[in-house]
Amino acid sequence: MPRVLVVEDDVQLVRALKINLQARSYEVEEASDAGSALRLAATCKPDVIVLDLGLPDMDGVELIRVIRGWSRVPILVLSARHMSEDKVRALDAGADDYVTKPFSMDELLARLRAATRRRRQATADTPELTVVTTDGFTIDLAAKKVQRDSGTVRLTPTEWHLLEVLVTSPGRLVSQRALLREVWGPTYAENTNYLRVYMAQLRRKLEADPAHPRYLITEPGMGYRFEP
Ligand code: CA
Repeated sequence: MPRVLVVEDDVQLVRALKINLQARSYEVEEASDAGSALRLAATCKPDVIVLDLGLPDMDGVELIRVIRGWSRVPILVLSARHMSEDKVRALDAGADDYVTKPFSMDELLARLRAATRRRRQATADTPELTVVTTDGFTIDLAAKKVQRDSGTVRLTPTEWHLLEVLVTSPGRLVSQRALLREVWGPTYAENTNYLRVYMAQLRRKLEADPAHPRYLITEPGMGYRFEP
């Protein structure tokens, strides 16, 4: 039974989360401030943490940094819509994903499942993911080959690198800054126009309808996500 640590000071929301999560066989621990969150994160060993950024005793982003100092547990951020800057900071601090308040319980549960699935894959004693298959294309990461019905897709080294970062974390939102740092290097972290250009190229090569992507999803102002 997966264990979720809910870090949130809104009592009503905690109650709603608890009812919904327990109904789906999650074990739920709750913390209403950063101090108890840290204590529980260390003692109850959660499989995933759901964390509100607005906590009474510490900035939520700071709390993520502290947890990341010693743990890789998936962290799903809850954030108000107007705090887009904070969501980016949270992702850069090591959060895995976010949902925007008010969120639907279905969306939260889908993100939780994705986070715990990635966690299991990362910790399982299975060989690394080498082939990614979708209805539209197949990516062989070891051979560095992409195959569509129409044949082999030719990618430039930069397109390949970008695609590789996204598809190896299926379902995960990767921040613009993280992608730029990984693919182009730390001095390019602000060059978001590069991403727009290269993502458009990748979509032209991989998506059936590049204007309405099915697999390579933009989260406006935030980053990109590969939906398998
Ligand atoms: Ca709050």
